[in-house]
Amino acid sequence: MTSKKTIVDTLARLKKRFPTPGAMEFGDAYQSLVAVMLTARTRDEQVLKLLPGFFKAYPTVEKLAGATPEQIQKKINTIGMFRQKAKNLSALAKRVVGEYGGEIPGTLDELITLAGVGRKTASVILPYQFNKPAIAVDTHVHRVTNRLGWVDTKTPEKTEQALLALIPSDLSPTVNRVFVKHGRYICIKNPRCWACPVADMCAFKNKQLESPKDSEKIIADIDRREAELQLLREQAII
Ligand code: SF4
Repeated sequence: MTSKKTIVDTLARLKKRFPTPGAMEFGDAYQSLVAVMLTARTRDEQVLKLLPGFFKAYPTVEKLAGATPEQIQKKINTIGMFRQKAKNLSALAKRVVGEYGGEIPGTLDELITLAGVGRKTASVILPYQFNKPAIAVDTHVHRVTNRLGWVDTKTPEKTEQALLALIPSDLSPTVNRVFVKHGRYICIKNPRCWACPVADMCAFKNKQLESPKDSEKIIADIDRREAELQLLREQAII
């Protein structure tokens, strides 16, 4: 079983490599819940670009509850599944206003009763909006933690259970944040182990440690993409 020291050291090194918050970590619970919901099967960049216009039109959950799905669609029609997402946002807002007095509920059990909010969406916002231990496991977190040898699981659901048992709760907010970035830029399908800050602590058997000829260009591209994402994130906060 992975030791606590390995977990702490791995997360610390990755946090140093990727010091910025997660792409959707901003604003209040309403804003971040909307943002995370909209990222389902959609790139973060696309969602971040539409958020300023969306929150200008619907600055509060009450305003959103007063809109029809057709009106909401017009604000999000640049992303995939926008009709379904608009329908969910409308139902979610009405329920938050009707059942919770306009406050986004702060427990997993309540959050997943809201339209369009699954366990993963709820687990993204619980740690940083409500200070509750939760680990959102997407394909990046699932792949990276299996390669590292922290878990040995076949599905993201099993990975979530295993990580919740393994990771001390005070570290759980860091897990999604750093592994999503690490999985997006370095521990990709053909892993860039040559650029990995935790290669010496990784159990993956097929590490690719030899730097390619264009390694500097790849690193510069990673840093540029991350900087662009952070800029969009800052602009999404109105
Ligand atoms: S060493 Fe390679 S496989 Fe292991 S975490 Fe780093 S990039 Fe991923």
